[in-house]
Amino acid sequence: MPASSRRWRCDVQNTKDGLRRATHIFEAAVWHYAVQVTCRCGHSAKFHAASLWWRFERKGWNDSFRDATRHFWCRQCAARIGRRVQPLRLETVAWEKGVIELEMPDDREWKRAMRRFRT
Ligand SMILES: [Zn+2]
Repeated sequence: MPASSRRWRCDVQNTKDGLRRATHIFEAAVWHYAVQVTCRCGHSAKFHAASLWWRFERKGWNDSFRDATRHFWCRQCAARIGRRVQPLRLETVAWEKGVIELEMPDDREWKRAMRRFRT
């Protein structure tokens, strides 16, 4: 863990499996986690956190896990009942091969966001 992480303003808690508990997509991205979106039907998807954050940033959406659920809907449920169902929750999971990667932020945008995050 880099020493600078202690300066971050968020109130970091550890989960049982040792992952820090992020409350925002950006935090998950800084820590190189993936973000898992889970629907009540059991369907879930994992996203590359930095690319997901960039999508939210460009749209001007709030990237807190609580608010972010409204920007997702479950394809499985949509196919079954023809309605857009919002996921129950977003959470951090360990990054793994095969997570969904959207367009990545360029270096400049990313560094700007990091500066904002740390002040
Ligand atoms: Zn579903």
